[in-house]
Amino acid sequence: MSIDALISYGRAVLANSLGVVLSHGHYLSVLPMLAALLIALGWLLWRLHRSGRRASWRLLRRLLLPRRVFLHRSALHDYAVFLINQGLLFSTIGAALVTPALVAAALLAVGGAFGLQVELAPASLGERIAVSIYLVLVWDFAATYAHYLKHRLPLLWEFHKVHHCAEVLNPLTALRRHPIEAAVSSIITATMLGLAMGLWLLVFGRFDVYSVFGTWVGIYLWRLLGYNLRHSHLPLSYGPFWNRILISPLQHQIHHSNDPRHYDRNFGHIFAVWDRLFGTLYVPAAGERVRFGIGAAEAGDYRTLKGLYFTPFRKAGALLLRRPRLDPQTSA
Ligand SMILES: [Zn+2]
Ligand SMILES: [Zn+2]
Repeated sequence: MSIDALISYGRAVLANSLGVVLSHGHYLSVLPMLAALLIALGWLLWRLHRSGRRASWRLLRRLLLPRRVFLHRSALHDYAVFLINQGLLFSTIGAALVTPALVAAALLAVGGAFGLQVELAPASLGERIAVSIYLVLVWDFAATYAHYLKHRLPLLWEFHKVHHCAEVLNPLTALRRHPIEAAVSSIITATMLGLAMGLWLLVFGRFDVYSVFGTWVGIYLWRLLGYNLRHSHLPLSYGPFWNRILISPLQHQIHHSNDPRHYDRNFGHIFAVWDRLFGTLYVPAAGERVRFGIGAAEAGDYRTLKGLYFTPFRKAGALLLRRPRLDPQTSA
């Protein structure tokens, strides 16, 4: 690669990374980060008040931004993966944007072929709200189901382990993802969204594209409710009742636990209903704490940047090449 190509690649990475922070939609942008900070501050003050300790700025800074978390090697890897992926993920973003459009267009064509009167028509406010709620539910189900598949399909799990081998959590851990895993997730989620849009189109004969904006608003509002705290050291729980309705930060932290009791629990994003359906919901007990990461036997494979990007290929390759064992009784 020439120096010029490297410089332009570096510029693209920088612009893309800044774009994440400055964009209005991303969960790592200014407003959702500020919202998470305020919620964390309020929660910490409440805890200090309950335990009768005096809150000083020094103590609050130590509790909110502990060096042992934000300067941990695992966190430094999160920052590096974020920057590297900003360069690699153009194709993923493209897939996420294009797939729903492709599926909707395909269904439009199918509708046309069968003589259905389908159109992209403006709708009443009530219909737009209904479509927006429908698509928020579909998005949440699709993202949860994609996450479930990443744990249940051995090949996908090899790539998803990159997210799970984090030993400390901070908001950037959300993007500690192998590009293959990120691409597969986006394609599964986007395809299900596209199908859902197409289904609405076929059933009701029309689909108002402005409703997609309402869906985005719904997801964004949820992200303002402290989404970024799910990847943090703060075990914020919504309590036994609300933890059965919404996935709290502590419930996602349980998902990152290296305790076998917590394996394959809480796949959800917004609503707990999908985990309840899959039988995977885990409602933490009061004061329950977790240690993050994967088992000690494998953790060493992911303690370098090279390991984070190449170990999944090596392990996935070994899985693919593994020959099915012949049963000695039948092969005899
Ligand atoms: Zn997971
Ligand atoms: Zn996570």
